[in-house]
Amino acid sequence: MSLRLTVDFLLYDWLGAQALSERERFAEHSRETFDAVLDICERIAREKYAPFNRLVDIQEPQFDGEKVILPQATKDAWDAYAASGMLSAAQDYDVGGMQLPYTVEAAGNAFFAMASVSIGAGMLTVGNANLLMAHGSALQREVFALNEFNGRFSGTMCLSEPQAGSSLSDVATRAVPDGEGFEADPLGPRYRLRGNKMWISAGEHELTENIIHLVLAKIPGPDGKLPPGVKGLSLFVVPKKLVDTDGRLTGVRNDVALAGLNHKCGWRGTTNTLLNFGEGKFPVLGEGMGLGLDGQGAGAIGYLVGEPGKGLGYMFHMMNEARIGVGMAATMLGMAGYHASLDYAKNRPQGRPMGASGKDPTQPQVRIIEHADVKRMLLAQKAYCEGALALELYCARLVDEQHTGAPEAADDARLLLEVLTPIAKSWPSEWCLEANSLAIQIHGGYGYTRDFPVEQYWRDNRLNMIHEGTHGIQAMDLLARKVLMENGKGLKLLAAHMQGTIDRALQVPELAREAKDLAQALQQVGAATQAAWATGEPTEALANAVPYMQAFGHTVLAWIWLDVALVATRAAAAPAQQGRLAACRYFFRYELPKIGAWLQVVSNRDMTCTELAEDAF
Ligand SMILES: Cc1cc2nc3c(=O)[nH]c(=O)nc-3n(C[C@H](O)[C@H](O)[C@H](O)COP(=O)(O)OP(=O)(O)OC[C@H]3O[C@@H](n4cnc5c(N)ncnc54)[C@H](O)[C@@H]3O)c2cc1C
Repeated sequence: MSLRLTVDFLLYDWLGAQALSERERFAEHSRETFDAVLDICERIAREKYAPFNRLVDIQEPQFDGEKVILPQATKDAWDAYAASGMLSAAQDYDVGGMQLPYTVEAAGNAFFAMASVSIGAGMLTVGNANLLMAHGSALQREVFALNEFNGRFSGTMCLSEPQAGSSLSDVATRAVPDGEGFEADPLGPRYRLRGNKMWISAGEHELTENIIHLVLAKIPGPDGKLPPGVKGLSLFVVPKKLVDTDGRLTGVRNDVALAGLNHKCGWRGTTNTLLNFGEGKFPVLGEGMGLGLDGQGAGAIGYLVGEPGKGLGYMFHMMNEARIGVGMAATMLGMAGYHASLDYAKNRPQGRPMGASGKDPTQPQVRIIEHADVKRMLLAQKAYCEGALALELYCARLVDEQHTGAPEAADDARLLLEVLTPIAKSWPSEWCLEANSLAIQIHGGYGYTRDFPVEQYWRDNRLNMIHEGTHGIQAMDLLARKVLMENGKGLKLLAAHMQGTIDRALQVPELAREAKDLAQALQQVGAATQAAWATGEPTEALANAVPYMQAFGHTVLAWIWLDVALVATRAAAAPAQQGRLAACRYFFRYELPKIGAWLQVVSNRDMTCTELAEDAF
C-alpha cells in the first residue's frame, strides 16, 4: 500500500485531523486544503528528492578551501521546498505563513524523509526560527526568523563541542561583551564568542544567502571563570555573514570558520561540520563595534537571545517538535526499507515450498514473499514502521492540542507529550532501524550491496539513536524525570488513555485478547516503575534505564496498534484493514511478550552491568 493511503487513514480515519479546521486558528482550512498540502509534498518529494537520494550519498559534500560544494540536486530540492511554503507552514498568516496544524505539517514532511532524509526538509531551519519567534526580540524575529521562514537564510543548532556531547554543562565556548555600549546594539546585546562546536549539521554550505547559527555559550563571571553547570548557558544568534537591521547583508563576514567536514556513515547529503568560532580567521572591526578579543577583531559576533543563563531552557522549547522530527525521520527510513523489500519479495523467485514429501525440484521456484519467514520479516517491518508513524502523528496532534485546545485539554496534552517524547524519539530510532536490517535480510546478498537502496537506509538511520540525545540519555530522561514529574501525573494520564482503549477493545470480540494483554503490560510497567525506585537510589533505579525504555516503548506501541485496530475493525474485510489487524496481532504476539525480560532486570534493580569492575571486561 502506498504511503499516502497509510497517511490518509491515520490522519483522517484514526486521528480525525479534519476536525482541527473547526478551531479558530485553523478556520480557513478544511480537509481539501490539508490534502492539497499533502499533494504538493508528495509531488516535490517524488520529483526533487527521491531520484537524488543515492547521488547525495555518493557525492559527499566537499570543501575546496573556500566553499562547501554540494550537488546541484540539493540546491534544487531546497529551492523547491522553500517555494512550497513548508518552511513557514505553521506560522501566522500575517508573517507569510499558512497557519497549518502541526499534525498536517508533520505528515507532509514524512514524504520528504522517506524520499531522501539527508537532502533534508528544513527541520533545523524551522526549529531555529521557531525558537527565535518564541524567545527572540522583535528585531531578531524580523531579521533572522522571518528570513529563515522565507528560505533566504538557513539555520543551525550549535550545542555540542568536542568535549561536551551528552554533558552540555561542560560547554566551554566563551562569550564576552563586545566593547562599550555592547548592550545597545539593536539586534540584541552584542558579544564576542570563542570556542569550537562539533557535529554541527548544515553548518557550512552555499544553499542560502546566509546561515544563522544558534550557539550555546557561557558568559564568564567577574573572576573570569565560566559558570559551572547548565544554568550558566546562554544563547546567541551568530550569523555567518553580518546583517543590518533590515536583514540585508553588510558585506562583512563573521568570525566563524569551517575547521573541517565530518565524513559520516550515512546521512551524507547534509554537511556536518566542526566550526571554530572567534579564532580570528575573519576579523570583524567596524564602526560602533569593539576591537575584538585580540584588539584586532577576533571573536565571532553573537547577539544574546533573551536573558543570560537561560539558553538551555530556550533550546528545550523546541525539543518536543525536534524530537518528533527525529522520530519521524527514523520511521520514514524504516518505511522506505519496508516498501523496497516488499517490492523485492514480490519479484524475487527463490526456493520451493516444503510439501509432505519434501520439495519438488521439477516445479518452478516461488517468489520469496511466499515463504513464511519472509512474511514474518515483512510483517515485523510493517508493525514497526506503520505503528511508529501512527505514534508520531499522535504526538504531532498533541502539539496542536497543546497550542489550540481548551485549557484543561491543552495541559493534558502538554503532560502526555512530556512522557511520550522520549519514546517518540527513541522507539523508531531503534525499531525502524531494526526494520532496515530486516529489509537488507530480505534482499539476501543483494541487500548488502550498493546496487539496492536498503543498505543506505540502514546507514542513514543509524544516526537517530545518537543525535538529539542518545538512547541512554533519553532512557534516563524517561525514568528519572518524565514518569516522576508532577507526582507521576503524566504517567497516570497516559495509563488512563490506555485504559480507555482497553475498555473499548474489550467490547470487540476479535480484539479482546489483545485488550487483556495490554492491560497486563500496563500493570507490569507500573509495577516496574515503582520497583525501580523502591530504594530511592538513582544508581539502582537507573542501572537498567534502557531496558525500561524498551519495555515502556513496546507497551506504548501496543496501545497505539490496539487503538488503530479499533478503527480498522470497522471495515475489516478490506485488504488494507486486514493488513493493519495482522500487524496489530503480530505486535501483540511476537513483540509485546519481550517486555517481561526487559522489566525483570528493572524490577530486580539488577546490578550485573553496573557493578562489573573495569578490568573484568
Ligand atoms: C551526524 C550528526 C549530526 C549531529 N548534529 C548536531 C547538531 O546539528 N548540533 C549539535 O549541537 N549536535 C549535533 N550532533 C551531536 C550529537 O547530539 C552528539 O553526538 C550526542 O549528543 C552525543 O554526544 P557525543 O557524540 O559527544 O557522545 P558522548 O556524550 O561522549 O556519549 C558516548 C556514549 O556514552 C553514553 N553516555 C554519555 N553520558 C552518559 C551518562 N551520563 N550516562 C549513561 N551513558 C552516557 C552515551 O549514551 C553514548 O552511548 C550531531 C551528531 C552527529 C553524529
